[in-house]
Amino acid sequence: MPRADLSRVEAVYLVTLHKMADELRTGTSALAAKFGVRESSVVDVVRRLEEKGLLIHEPWRSIALTRRGERLAEQLIHNHRIIETYLHQVLNLPAKLACDEAHKLENLLYRKTIASMCRTLNHPTTCIHGEEIKHYNWCR
Ligand SMILES: [Zn+2]
Ligand SMILES: [Zn+2]
Repeated sequence: MPRADLSRVEAVYLVTLHKMADELRTGTSALAAKFGVRESSVVDVVRRLEEKGLLIHEPWRSIALTRRGERLAEQLIHNHRIIETYLHQVLNLPAKLACDEAHKLENLLYRKTIASMCRTLNHPTTCIHGEEIKHYNWCR
């Protein structure tokens, strides 16, 4: 399911919105400021995510992820943490490179591949940055 045909940028936005969920107003201008891009390009990505049923954006209101958007964001975070930990621990890549590479792959690999990595690592509880990893039935 992480392969909901998300582009790299869409995946980054989804995860960022998920992490910003506690902030009072998550609008397109807040996102534009965060990414250092023009608001018009943010509006474009947000519209594509809305068309995919991953968020709801009413004009002049905060952006809210749908349940499906939340689940997908959580899976992308799981995948990122598993891939970077795998690249670092199994392939001995430096942590920074492992993290960068994981960002390129987190929305592209099949679930089966991620599950294999997760099993090889024996379902680690934290990633290389010390962040918690929550697991799924499908990765056990
Ligand atoms: Zn990372
Ligand atoms: Zn897992």
